[in-house]
Amino acid sequence: GTPPRIRTRFAPSPTGFIHLGNIRSAIYPWAFARAQGGDFILRIEDTDQERSTQAAVDVILQGMAWLGLDFDEGPYYQMQRMARYQAVLAQMLERGLAYPCYMSVADLDALRERQQANKEKPRYDGTWRPEPGKALPPIPEGVQPVLRFKNPQGGVVAWDDKVKGRIEIANAELDDLVLARPAPASQAGEEGAAGEEGEAASGRIGVPTYNFCVVVDDIDMRITHVIRGDDHINNTPRQINILRALGHQPPVYAHLPTVLNEQGEKMSKRNGAKPVTQYRDEGYLPDALLNYLARLGWSHGDDEIFSRQQFLQWFDLEHLGRSAAQFDEAKLRWVNAQH
Ligand code: GLU
Repeated sequence: GTPPRIRTRFAPSPTGFIHLGNIRSAIYPWAFARAQGGDFILRIEDTDQERSTQAAVDVILQGMAWLGLDFDEGPYYQMQRMARYQAVLAQMLERGLAYPCYMSVADLDALRERQQANKEKPRYDGTWRPEPGKALPPIPEGVQPVLRFKNPQGGVVAWDDKVKGRIEIANAELDDLVLARPAPASQAGEEGAAGEEGEAASGRIGVPTYNFCVVVDDIDMRITHVIRGDDHINNTPRQINILRALGHQPPVYAHLPTVLNEQGEKMSKRNGAKPVTQYRDEGYLPDALLNYLARLGWSHGDDEIFSRQQFLQWFDLEHLGRSAAQFDEAKLRWVNAQH
């Protein structure tokens, strides 16, 4: 049949002002969708309610608009999709793909300490994992369960990363990922008072974890290519296992190396990276910044200066850089002067 329509996404967490290193992760999925005649989707990953702010969302939207990174769908907000994640969790419980784990935090800590003392890798021991013919411990009173994914046992998870090459992880290395945690007592109480449905949802299922939301979103949004920072590479084998359990083919993955600041550290909000919109306010040309950032992790021969049209015409995943790129403000100024 015909290959599916290319669909990519940018999925920022609005927990601080988006900087050049972050927005570079928007440029490649955007360019790939545009170059292939596909769709580019914006998804705001705002599940960290304590740290997410509207001001940070505004900088994402303004920065993207200024750079001309137009999207075809969204912005979707994960906080508005909670009922959907909980519905998928309920299905997974029903189908035996997930199970409640009543191990208390204290017991989990004790388990970890024992494993560390034995120089073992700290991991969940599967006490509550249901298996045919296995008797589970009696359910303790007053412990709200977490929901865990029944990770496949044996075999490997493998994918051909467009940047990193072939990656293989043994399933034995992955423990049963937590998919949802109990709602905080106050929240469960409030929802209980508000209505039975809310209580059922938060009381039985709990609050879905970040890794789980990402999987459901990538499925629902029919994402064909996940292009994101390599700080997420450890999540990928877990996400692939959940995708497959839900009956889906994993997307193509491309994990981008970090952007370093001028001091050679990972660019971050904490070490003073400027918000994208500050470059706009300082008078940089959007096409110059787009050119500079695109070139920071992708190459087209020796070409340093290119137009937006040339970039979209030339862009491919095969020429993404394999090593960390370092930001250089003098170079950015030079690129700006060429535009
Ligand atoms: N929200 C994540 C971040 O901002 C991105 C997750 C993803 O692209 O899968 O780092």
